[in-house]
Amino acid sequence: DKTLHIIGGGMAGSEAAWQAAQLGVSVVIHEMRPKVGTFAHQTGLLGEMVCSNSFRSDDSEQNAVGLLHWEMREAGGLIMQTAEKHRLPAGGALAVDRDPFAQSVTDALMAHPNITVEYGEVTDLPDEGTWIIATGPLTSTALGSAIAAQTGAEALAFFDAIAPIVYHDSIDMSKAWMQSRYDKGETEEERTAYLNCPMDRDQYYAFIDALETAEKTEFHEGETAGYFDGCLPIEVMAERGRETLRFGPMKPVGLTNPHQPDVKAYAVVQLRRDNKLGTLYNIVGFQTKMKYGAQTAVFKTIPGLENANFARLGGIHRNTFLNSPTLLDAQMRLKSKPNIRFAGQITGVEGYVESAAMGMLAGRLAAAELNGKALETPPPTTATGALITHISGGADAKTFQPMNVNFGLFPPVDGLKAGRRGRKDRYKAYTDRAKADWQAWLSAGQEG
Ligand code: FAD
Repeated sequence: DKTLHIIGGGMAGSEAAWQAAQLGVSVVIHEMRPKVGTFAHQTGLLGEMVCSNSFRSDDSEQNAVGLLHWEMREAGGLIMQTAEKHRLPAGGALAVDRDPFAQSVTDALMAHPNITVEYGEVTDLPDEGTWIIATGPLTSTALGSAIAAQTGAEALAFFDAIAPIVYHDSIDMSKAWMQSRYDKGETEEERTAYLNCPMDRDQYYAFIDALETAEKTEFHEGETAGYFDGCLPIEVMAERGRETLRFGPMKPVGLTNPHQPDVKAYAVVQLRRDNKLGTLYNIVGFQTKMKYGAQTAVFKTIPGLENANFARLGGIHRNTFLNSPTLLDAQMRLKSKPNIRFAGQITGVEGYVESAAMGMLAGRLAAAELNGKALETPPPTTATGALITHISGGADAKTFQPMNVNFGLFPPVDGLKAGRRGRKDRYKAYTDRAKADWQAWLSAGQEG
């Protein structure tokens, strides 16, 4: 049977279906809406944008999301070409008129001779055939349980708890230092896994005050069912008592500041290496519901982070996602059931664009397999490749949380050491290299 079945017709499922259909594969999309809804979706349309109407930056020279747009356009992506048709003026961002956008995505898929849509909830994992599961952050409860039964409950999360991530090269190492608490760790890699930022008494209490007054975002209605204590926002911990953080994630014990060996810090903010490349560090325990502007303002008061560049800011959301580094292979297949691929937000990427990109890739990989052709995963020098490399093994499985695309996921460009040249040059070098490598990957796929 040469049919590709896709569960979920959102950002990822729609793009996957389009890509595979364009490569001559017949596709069935199984979509539960409008029969079964979610707390966020409003319509029965395919490709519905659940919240903002923006695909973020469209700058393919200086921005990693813009680069992902470019890669999807080069690959003939449905989401990008439809976005272009319904584009609204929004400066450098790609914003769209959401309802006509989703209507057009739906029409294009329905009109495609290789695609059919079956409406209804899928509740079990298929044993046979070629499948892509792209059911997103709000995967239905029944299917979520079926996935958890296959992967093990610990490997499927229902909430994310995202701590902000900082580019290593923007941390002021004249104030911060590298050390793991009590110098724990067997290997050099473990001993260098942590960076520390010290606070004195005044800095600590000013920080607590700032957390309390910062603007926060609310959970959506219906979002918090099952909200658990293990991932409390940092500001909620601070509200429980002014000392709570100092005895929690900010405890100053087991650490010596080499810049001031005689001064005992009152509190310490720890950052943990977030990827194998060592370009990204997350702030440990700092998941938060603060608004993005407030986060940057508050976190830049931390000594050593005054000039921090954030690869991503923190958040906590209802979000069904896999521990992809342990579960998926580089071809996006479930290792324990390789007839099933996963795509979209459920793989542990974050955002419309990233989700659509993972749909594009899964669609192409599945189509190649059905067409009896070998298709390599794109190299990590491309935006699509950087994302798949991160989620299928580059990220630390133990602390895996959803990721936006950003230049910290790309291998450094030779001869362009951080700081040596301006950031603009560096980003241009990343995107030039990505574009050449993406073109090469696309043409190799055509020959394959
Ligand atoms: P979705 O687009 O959600 O598509 C999944 C599809 O699968 C849905 O159509 C769903 O109905 C269907 N489905 C689920 N279970 C089943 C089943 N068992 N059988 C059949 N069909 C099923 N990202 C941004 O970039 N910007 C934002 O503003 C933004 N806001 C968000 C707000 C909320 C409340 C949430 C939950 C997420 C938000 N995201 C946002 C994150 C994410 O990028 C989007 O959720 C994106 O739509 C993910 O794409 P996807 O294809 O993986 O999932």
